[in-house]
Amino acid sequence: MPKNKKVKTTNNKRPPIVTVMGHVDHGKTTLLDTIRKTAITKSEFGGITQHIGAYEVNTPKGKITFIDTPGHAAFTEMRSRGGQVADIVVLVVAANDGVKPQTIEAINHAKAAEAPIIVAINKIDAEGANVDKIKKELSENGVLVESYGGDTMCVEISALKGTNINLLLESIIALADLLELKDTSNDALLGTVIESKLDNRKGVLATLLIQSGTLKKGDKIWAGGSNAVVKSMTNFKGEQIKIAKPGTPVEILGFKSVPEIGSIVVSLENKDKVEAIYKEQMEAISNLESNEDTEEKLLNIILKADTKGTLQAIEQSLQSIKAENAKIKLVLKGVGNVNKSDVLLASATGSTIFSFNAKNTDVMDLAKQRKVVIKNYNIIYELLEDVQKALEGELLKQEEYVKGLSLVKKVFPLPSGDIVAGCEIIIGVMTVGRKVVIWPDKATYKQSRKTSEIDDMIIYKGKIKKIKSGKTEVKKASKGSECGILLSPNFSDIKVGQYIQVI
Ligand code: GDP
Repeated sequence: MPKNKKVKTTNNKRPPIVTVMGHVDHGKTTLLDTIRKTAITKSEFGGITQHIGAYEVNTPKGKITFIDTPGHAAFTEMRSRGGQVADIVVLVVAANDGVKPQTIEAINHAKAAEAPIIVAINKIDAEGANVDKIKKELSENGVLVESYGGDTMCVEISALKGTNINLLLESIIALADLLELKDTSNDALLGTVIESKLDNRKGVLATLLIQSGTLKKGDKIWAGGSNAVVKSMTNFKGEQIKIAKPGTPVEILGFKSVPEIGSIVVSLENKDKVEAIYKEQMEAISNLESNEDTEEKLLNIILKADTKGTLQAIEQSLQSIKAENAKIKLVLKGVGNVNKSDVLLASATGSTIFSFNAKNTDVMDLAKQRKVVIKNYNIIYELLEDVQKALEGELLKQEEYVKGLSLVKKVFPLPSGDIVAGCEIIIGVMTVGRKVVIWPDKATYKQSRKTSEIDDMIIYKGKIKKIKSGKTEVKKASKGSECGILLSPNFSDIKVGQYIQVI
């Protein structure tokens, strides 16, 4: 080597970004608080830290960035808008409890994101703590820790007492070293919005995690439809900073509108490129994606069923479904109704949700917003048939979850002053006692299926008091039939062309 040739000595690693997941009450928040307290010395921040959504800790072997919002719903929400923030997932399991539904969900979400897991068995100080039982249960759920023949790191901690917290931090650094996370501060800017809000005094505040490139004060940036000139940047210690490098969380001022959490951040000049990718992702109604290794297409599926037995039966039957050049990838399976995090996971992974004997009404709005198709079945055969169709490339359409809808075709004022609406039932069933709303016309009703922003266009809220089919009083009337509907309270403004919807 020539004598005077300089050897590059720059440290080209970036801090790992870590998120904490696990079942409720297993100690995620306590762990994040303890790490914040133990690893950040008082002199560093004078005892005050800002809650900006993430914080950094200095360990003797390097920095780590922790995302402050624990849980897989937040993690997957970010992913569903394109952001892939966390490099490592710390899975917290309480030693005195066990592997619980949200532990399993967290495992599935981390696996779907291909984010490596470090297990933190927490509450080892608590009565009834049984570390071996946890390890065994984890192994039954696909997480094999080192002492169980696997390679998942596992640290036994007490978040409350601060036991082994340093060991956990060391393990995170060790795993980060294996992941070879490079400092890409010279690349194009790429970040993710991890928090955003409108502050009455200051304006729009957004916390960004920089993943590559360098963000500077004065930069023109773009995130999920909103522009910003970075007016000011604050780190988690509340200090004003001028530049932010990969791995760093910063709160910035300057966005014109509140960017959605999970939106990707780029330089304004790269906006068009990213906008196109973003749009494509959001419009990916077809869930068949290419398997990069082969020509084979993958149909990503999330499967939920009411009981473990049915779930197993369906899963087994799915194995026999075949199509040329396409196969099923089961992203997640679980017992119960479809929940918010299932929808977010589906959105992040382009999956279709197939549920069996489930009540999914609570998540339909979110599903619609995220263009996630949820199909519910009561007959296994029908579910399998639809999976087959989807595998063959057919687009499955979101089910119309309107319970009942009627068009007012005539009005009959009664001598009592009440008005009977002569209706044709267009969707579902109208049942006595059910709550209803009235939309002024077809256009408004149709718009209401797309957004809840026009809910103030509802002209009436009440209940169905009576239904008459011809002269006979009935309890319910179904799609295709005509009937007279009497509402309670009476609605004197009822007119032809209005739409009565069961809610
Ligand atoms: P999260 O819902 O997962 O965020 O759980 P929290 O951090 O809120 O903790 C739930 C409860 O467990 C709280 O009462 C904590 O004080 C307690 N807890 C958390 N960590 C430990 C621990 O290491 N040991 C014991 N004994 N209790 C803990």
